[in-house]
Amino acid sequence: MLAVAVILPAVCLLWFMNRAVENVRMAARQIVIDRYEGDLTDTSQKANGIWKENLKFLDKKITDKGAFEIFNDITGLDYDGAIIYDKTGGRIYPLLSSDVNTPAELGDTFAQAWRVEFVEQDYAKAAELYEQKARSKNIYVKFTALIGESRSLTKLSELDKAISTCRQVAFSSEEKNCDIPTLTLIANARLLLMELLHQNVKDKGSLVRDTFIKLLEIIHEKNEGRSVLPSEQRAFLARRICEIYEQSPFLKSQPRSLDNESMQKLIAAEELSIRMVERFPTVMALPNWPNGRLKSVAKEKESVYGMRHDINGRTILLFRYEKNAIRALWHYENTFKDSDMVYRILDDSGRFLTGAPRPEGEPFITAFVGEHFPGWRAELYLKDADVFKKAASREVALYTWTGVLVIVLILLAGGFAGQAVGKQIKLNRLKNDFIATVSHELKTPLASMRVLVDTLLEGRYKDQEQVTDYLQLVSKENERLTGLIDNFLTFSRMERNKQAFDFERVSPATIARDAADAVKTKFDKGKCKFDVSIGENLPDILVDRDAMVTVLVNLLDNAYKYSHDEKRIELSVSAEDGSICFCVSDNGIGLSRRAIKKMFNRFYQVDRSLTRPTEGCGLGLSIVKFIVDAHKGTISVDSKPDEGSTFTVKLPTTDLK
Ligand code: ADP
Repeated sequence: MLAVAVILPAVCLLWFMNRAVENVRMAARQIVIDRYEGDLTDTSQKANGIWKENLKFLDKKITDKGAFEIFNDITGLDYDGAIIYDKTGGRIYPLLSSDVNTPAELGDTFAQAWRVEFVEQDYAKAAELYEQKARSKNIYVKFTALIGESRSLTKLSELDKAISTCRQVAFSSEEKNCDIPTLTLIANARLLLMELLHQNVKDKGSLVRDTFIKLLEIIHEKNEGRSVLPSEQRAFLARRICEIYEQSPFLKSQPRSLDNESMQKLIAAEELSIRMVERFPTVMALPNWPNGRLKSVAKEKESVYGMRHDINGRTILLFRYEKNAIRALWHYENTFKDSDMVYRILDDSGRFLTGAPRPEGEPFITAFVGEHFPGWRAELYLKDADVFKKAASREVALYTWTGVLVIVLILLAGGFAGQAVGKQIKLNRLKNDFIATVSHELKTPLASMRVLVDTLLEGRYKDQEQVTDYLQLVSKENERLTGLIDNFLTFSRMERNKQAFDFERVSPATIARDAADAVKTKFDKGKCKFDVSIGENLPDILVDRDAMVTVLVNLLDNAYKYSHDEKRIELSVSAEDGSICFCVSDNGIGLSRRAIKKMFNRFYQVDRSLTRPTEGCGLGLSIVKFIVDAHKGTISVDSKPDEGSTFTVKLPTTDLK
């Protein structure tokens, strides 16, 4: 029962502990998930916030501006290109050459001059023919002719004349309110002039500078409300001017410099936008594309992403190369760089964009990047699979140690309880033995006394001598009973710790003599050879005289009881190493080693049968031991079966001075 009472709670505790540890791990996992889900939400909000801010900033900048300026503003920001549609959904920028109608009659007008110039290669005649055409009232015809003349003169190496002819177009005041084809001619004339001059700068420095500025102006369209150049031509002019600038030390030395980086950006933006026009010619080409959403639109060397942005009824399609498009995601790097996770971002087509390209295992948490990035996913992977174990390790250790401690306590408590129960069981057994022994010991003298008294009462005796014998037997039984009861009472007092000792200075010889006197009559009758030897000049000892006499009487009594018919008993008292030794030896039945170990226990008897020849109840020696201990003395036994025993009581004398 006790084992079950200990093992059952221990097993239950182990089970609970196991569950608790599992729960702690699960809780730790949930905490980690919650934390990183929170981080993902925050980071995606930041990424979307960046886009929102970008668009807001753009809106402020471009409200009510013309398409060309909008395009310039957009490409001046972090965009790599754009298509701008008007309110009807038609494209207004980029403007392509194919959108512009060149006057149809031009071919007829210049057919002869072009043949002479390009086929016959008669440049003088061509220059003449062009000069005639240049008199035309039609500005477009006039400018075409002047450019042709300048070209022919250049081929004739008449540079000065070619320059001044070209200049008429390049610096024409028509620029401000001409149509697109004419503007294109003016731009071409400026480039031609620049090409002519830049080989021959020497005495024409100011003209070179002015042409350079004029070229930049026509690319950037500083004058509002004018026609704009088609995008292809703009990109071409920009590229060429960059090359000329690079090769010209003169231009580089001028205060007006060329910002190569922004120029390259402009060229790239125009070119990308022109390429995209093919796919998205009108707003009709953007079905199911909600406002403010980023989509992968093309795969060039880098992927191109587009964002539809509707503003004031107009639609703008903004383009970014991948590198620029993922800029808004930089917070992911910041958030997860020192964490237990690695992240990666995939676009709507599942293409890897940023983070760890090929993390190990399955994604631990996946979340969408947010409204501006439809279909884009952020995936988190565990750097270390043991992260939860680590997170829960403190709690797990706490549970484990608490569990171990409780189990140890249960086992200890079980052990103590077992001991207590064992003691109780032993005590019960002792009590039962005690009752049996006591009843037997009391019954025997009482029964014999009763038989003797009954015999006397009934007058069944021969003579007075027999009466005296019977009465002596009664007296002896009475004495035995008294001795037994004395022992019970002493034992009872001892058990209840009520035994009070009355210490006094006594001579050991007195104690020995008192004890010898007490047993003398009995020993004499039993034909026992009893010697008492008392050493000389023995020091007094501090003892309870009666108690010590009891000790010796008990030992002598046992010596008598457990000896055969020819009894030889000796009581000796001597001084030894600061102690007084009382020795009681007999030639009796002796004791086995096992019996010696146990004989001071209460109720212990070597022969436990009720039919044993000797009276007693196993209390004598335990009383002796109790008294000797109370006197801070020792008791030892030297015995061999069938040879006899010697009991030695040693009492200290040192306390006396
Ligand atoms: P009891 O009343 O039975 O004599 P004791 O406590 O005096 O009880 O002794 C315990 C047991 O020790 C005895 O039952 C006996 O078997 C053994 N014993 C004690 N003294 C002697 C002795 N002198 N010789 C042999 N056996 C002894």
